[in-house]
Amino acid sequence: MKISLVGKVALVTGAGSGIGRGVAQVLAKVGAHVVAVDVNAATAKETAERITRDGGKATGLAGDVSSDASMIGVMERVAKDLGGGLHVLVNNAGVELFKGIQDTSYTDWDKIVDVDLKGVFISTKAGLPLLKKAGGSGGAYIVNIASVHAHATVPNLTAYAAAKGGVVGMTRSLSMELGPLGIRVNSISPGFVDTPMVQRWLNSMPNPQAELERVHKLHAVPRIGTPEDIGQMIAFLASGYADFVVGANLTIDGGLTNRLQH
Ligand code: NAD
Repeated sequence: MKISLVGKVALVTGAGSGIGRGVAQVLAKVGAHVVAVDVNAATAKETAERITRDGGKATGLAGDVSSDASMIGVMERVAKDLGGGLHVLVNNAGVELFKGIQDTSYTDWDKIVDVDLKGVFISTKAGLPLLKKAGGSGGAYIVNIASVHAHATVPNLTAYAAAKGGVVGMTRSLSMELGPLGIRVNSISPGFVDTPMVQRWLNSMPNPQAELERVHKLHAVPRIGTPEDIGQMIAFLASGYADFVVGANLTIDGGLTNRLQH
């Protein structure tokens, strides 16, 4: 069994950093032409350059998942430059906010929900014509990046936990609508993954190193995840070897959420 995405086009949102960049690199390593999309044009381009330098195929594009005009523009570029449809869409772009409900403004709420939840809807809707094209000729895959916070969470994360819970619900419904078109939709709920997002959170602690060590020990493994851990699961989901996995949420957290606190 050898995973190959040679001849496939894979688009990853939020690919300028962290999980998105790692996923883009893994998908390119198994042969996909990766379209790295980020609201930060420079980091999207850098991801594409890193992949090309490593011998892979990639295009870096600016794209804001909270804007339908922006994502329609991205998909038009993909259709024009790469043709043939979109085989893999990874809805990964996300932002986090730690604030109690009293301090969460309507603007804060809208920002989190617009990127983390509506962004999945917008990107999927914009990509649908291309996904249908691929779905009708061999299969297409959508992987939505939710979070363990969709299932078990902490105080002061209201907007983020709500948005990520919404992603899991949206995945279930979409999987039924798009399955008959050859498009398999699943979500992944990562636990702690070593990315700038987690670094920012650690840096907000009085002793980041001690906090990191504490967090490592919460995992069965015991370590936090890497972007590659997530990318390898996505490569498997899109490989053709996992085609009966549909509408599922896969928790990838090193055993973190199995643990009862006591
Ligand atoms: P990150 O902050 O390192 O990277 C997020 C990327 O998304 C950045 O490059 C950013 O520019 C981009 N982005 C933000 N808003 C965007 C928009 N409107 N349009 C396009 N791109 C946008 O974060 P990360 O840790 O790599 O997180 C990636 C995803 O994984 C997020 O959805 C996050 O919620 C989820 N997640 C992360 C963890 C973790 O431990 N790191 C755990 C669970 C879920």
